[in-house]
Amino acid sequence: MKYLLVMMVSLAIGASASAQDRKVEFSTFKLSETIYMLRGGGGNVGISAGEDGLYLIDDQVAPVTEGLLAAIREISDAPIRFIINTHYHYDHVGGNETIGKGGAVIIAHNNIRKRMTTEQISVFRQSTEPPYATGALPILTFNDQVSLHLNGETATAYHVANGHTDGDSIIHFPLSNVIHMSDMYFNGLYPYVDLEAGGSILGMVDAVNLGLSLSDKDTQIIPGHGPLATSQDLTAYRDFLVAAIANVKSLIEQNLNLQQIISAKPTAEWDEALGKIWITPAQFVTFIYNSLEGIHRYTPPTTAEPVAE
Ligand SMILES: [Zn+2]
Repeated sequence: MKYLLVMMVSLAIGASASAQDRKVEFSTFKLSETIYMLRGGGGNVGISAGEDGLYLIDDQVAPVTEGLLAAIREISDAPIRFIINTHYHYDHVGGNETIGKGGAVIIAHNNIRKRMTTEQISVFRQSTEPPYATGALPILTFNDQVSLHLNGETATAYHVANGHTDGDSIIHFPLSNVIHMSDMYFNGLYPYVDLEAGGSILGMVDAVNLGLSLSDKDTQIIPGHGPLATSQDLTAYRDFLVAAIANVKSLIEQNLNLQQIISAKPTAEWDEALGKIWITPAQFVTFIYNSLEGIHRYTPPTTAEPVAE
């Protein structure tokens, strides 16, 4: 990787009454002449900056928008013309309303707009999320794919169905050789499968395989969460998903129920490395089991277990 970490911006967030004195550090990585990855408060952001201006892939959680914009301004003062949302989760669309007010056109898959305009009830997140304000909504929606022809490169968003949610897209920058994988890829932690929003572990594998088919050995991969990755990292992640699914499947074939399968620890070999940060091994096994059994909701374990945030 020939480019350096170009800047680190540290900002205190939390002027609003509801936000605590929350400090979010933004780190920006230059991946090509025009493409950047930005980490901070929420999902990883992709940025294209060049002669035609700026556009973003996702915009983190709402309370960090001011800091996010300050970090983007370290790259360029040009107007933000577009935002592509990879999926509807609040940690990827939080800046939509503010940045949209500034003139950015919000682009997203049809299912993202559908979910953002209706109440979303999540068993896993233990939340009921009201519809978003009109100003936060995508106004240009697509079904299969959409391309942006800006900054000397054609970037394409491909809808990848029923993996993390039913509305994710991965975004390919062929000239820069960069892919933003949405939350189909959690690098360094167990992935979240939003079963109530049409997610399935099987679709996640399909999405990763599409990403790999667009990659070569030099491709830089922006995961939805976690550090920048290589295509070799993404291959290892795909192989881990496939192996974990096979382990759970073989226990289902032995007629074990979900609780028995969780107790059998079918993901033991990865639990230490991936299961301590957010999604627990029991939750991850539940995502796999329910995906394989066609149960379109998260089913909390019957034994007491800390609830993920
Ligand atoms: Zn997500």
